[in-house]
Amino acid sequence: MERITGTMINYYFVCKRKLWYFIHDIQMEKENEDVQIGKLIDEKSYSREKKHITINNTISVDFIGKYNILHEVKKSKSIEEAGEWQIKYYIYYLRKKGVNIHKGIIDYPKLRQRQEVFLEKEDEIYIEKIIKEIKELKEGTIPNQISSKICKKCAYYELCYI
Ligand code: SF4
Repeated sequence: MERITGTMINYYFVCKRKLWYFIHDIQMEKENEDVQIGKLIDEKSYSREKKHITINNTISVDFIGKYNILHEVKKSKSIEEAGEWQIKYYIYYLRKKGVNIHKGIIDYPKLRQRQEVFLEKEDEIYIEKIIKEIKELKEGTIPNQISSKICKKCAYYELCYI
């Protein structure tokens, strides 16, 4: 597997089974209403100040300011850790490409909150461990369902439980 995308990093924290589906090209997110609402917030709330860019078909980010601050919009804090590591990965990825990103900002327009995210040295080491694990997961068998309250809102719910 050549590319590790921001979505994969996100799913790593949400559910390994979801990640497994995704890296095996079983993608159902387009049909999930929650994701569509998320995209709507993304498109309407911050249109004046951002530039949305997809890089190497791998990460999809918004830049603000002088292109050294990454910007990400989330609709809720339900899986906050996943969102935080996704943006840390973006910073990691861009720094590896020679783009010196200072920090990330996650906006929660519904909550009217904003959170700063920094990438520290130990985070880089952790991200490298995650990348290795994602590659191993691709070769392995499908992980078990997590039986969490998030399952009901997951795009893969029917595949897992019905
Ligand atoms: S329904 Fe639950 S177990 Fe299945 S992929 Fe989604 S989060 Fe994971």
